[in-house]
Parts: sequence; structure tokens; C-alpha cells
Amino acid sequence: MTSSTPPTRAVPIPDAARLLQLITVAVLVLASGCNTAPQDDAAPPTDHAAGADRLQQLFDGTLPVIDLTHALSPEGPHWPSDSGNPFSYEVRSAHDSGAVSMGAYSTPEHHGTHIDAPIHSVDGQPDVDDLTAQDLFGPIALIDASAQCAADPDYQLSVEDIQTWEATHGTLPQGAVVLMYTGWSLKWDDFDAYKNQDDEGRMHFPGFSEGAGRLLVEGRNIRGIGIDTLSVDAAVAGFGAHRVVNGHGKYHLENVANLHQIPAIGAYLIVAPIKIKDGSGGQVRLFAVVPD
Ligand SMILES: [Zn+2]
Repeated sequence: MTSSTPPTRAVPIPDAARLLQLITVAVLVLASGCNTAPQDDAAPPTDHAAGADRLQQLFDGTLPVIDLTHALSPEGPHWPSDSGNPFSYEVRSAHDSGAVSMGAYSTPEHHGTHIDAPIHSVDGQPDVDDLTAQDLFGPIALIDASAQCAADPDYQLSVEDIQTWEATHGTLPQGAVVLMYTGWSLKWDDFDAYKNQDDEGRMHFPGFSEGAGRLLVEGRNIRGIGIDTLSVDAAVAGFGAHRVVNGHGKYHLENVANLHQIPAIGAYLIVAPIKIKDGSGGQVRLFAVVPD
């Protein structure tokens, strides 16, 4: 995985202090290209100064950050099975008021807003704990296919859709995380609409076509892809996009929230997955930093 990520930021981070330092540097780098603060003609600020300015905006809440994560609960959408919702939460102790003070939960890795590590679909690819901070921070390219998906719930994002996006916004940024907005996240509170099963129980929701996935991993230099449905593949399509994207050492993000709030270009993604040793994926907290 690391061999195919962009060489724009150096990495190796063995401990928590270094990781914190990297996060700080990454945010500085991400934010420094977007500084709109007045410039002093006599002494233009360095990139570091501009980045620090942006970082301060992040800390004081004036740099918009969108949470792209659905809350986990036993009522949330899930991959249908005879055993029902696989997520459970048990209160272990509570305050006198009845409020929870501690609980325990159980969940599959691929449930809720989550990441498919590359190993998920293809043997020999990185596990979730192999993914580095460099893998997990990147520019967002948002492809809005909500109109097509509203007209056809089996819609598959095509190579032509990506080329159309690039005709407007330019070639996909190096190291982009390409997010497909289908409109499905707005159905999150209605599981029947979200899974959209027909009379035979077959689900209908949109996804990336295998060809689109292949273009992204073979013709562009991306970090990963994501979508606001249960799977990056359309429900009727099998798992072709899974195999080709994971097979190139790239990850997927599924059940992503709030993509309707993200611009097509200019936002930055922070992916923070649970770090399960040798895990095939797991729940993530996703944040989009959206400079003005
Ligand atoms: Zn998946």
C-alpha cells in the first residue's frame, strides 16, 4: 500500500507522540494551500506560517469541519441477514440518573461507517493496522451522482462520469479519496429505503462500476474510494469494484454520511479507523475539512 501512495509527505511514525506530530504537520500542509488571509507585501508569510494560521482556525472553530460519520446504534442500517442487526450495545453500569457511564458493544468490522482495508477483498494486501497516517489523510474528490441514482437505484458510476467530472474540475488530485455521492445517506433513518429490497429480497442501491474502479487505480493515483451506501459496488453488480480497488492496495469507505455538504473539490479527508491487529477493516470516524 505504502509503495503506491503519493510521495508528497514523509511518514514512518513509531509512537503516539510522533503520530500527533504528523497529524499536526498534515493539517498544516492540507490547510496551507488554502490561505485567504491578507498578505503582507513586504514579508510574505512562509508556508509554515500560513499553515499555522489555518491550524488556529481549525482549533477555534472557524475552519469548517464536517463529520461524515453515522452514529452506531442497534437501530441503524446493516447488511441484511437472518440474524438481524449485528450491532449490539449493553449497558454495564449507569449513573443514578440512569445515564450510561459504561457499556460494551459488539459489531462486525464491516458495519456502520467503516473502512474496507485492502485485505478485505484480496489476499496478501494490507490489513487495517498496516494503513498509515499518510494513507488516511487526503484531498477529497466528490462526484455527485445523486440525480442519476434517483432515476435508477441500480446506477453504476461510469468511466464517462469520471471524465465528465474532470472536464469541469481538472484531473483528479494526486492521492485523492474519490467519494461518490448517491443521495442514499439521506435515507439512513429509513432502513427499508436504504436497503431497497424488491419482492425477491434483492437489494437495489447504486455504486461504482468495475470499470470506474479500474480507471481510478490504474489510470489515476488515488488513496481510496468511498460511498454513502452499504457497498462501493452497486447491490446488483457483485463485487467487481471491491476486487479491483482492494486488489491495488487501496481502501473503501462505506456508509459515509453528509456528502451533500461537501464541495466537488477543495475539501480534505481525515480517516481515523479503529486499529485492529490483522483486521480486514473496521469502524471509522471521518472528518472533512472544508476551507473557504
Ligand atoms: Zn465493502
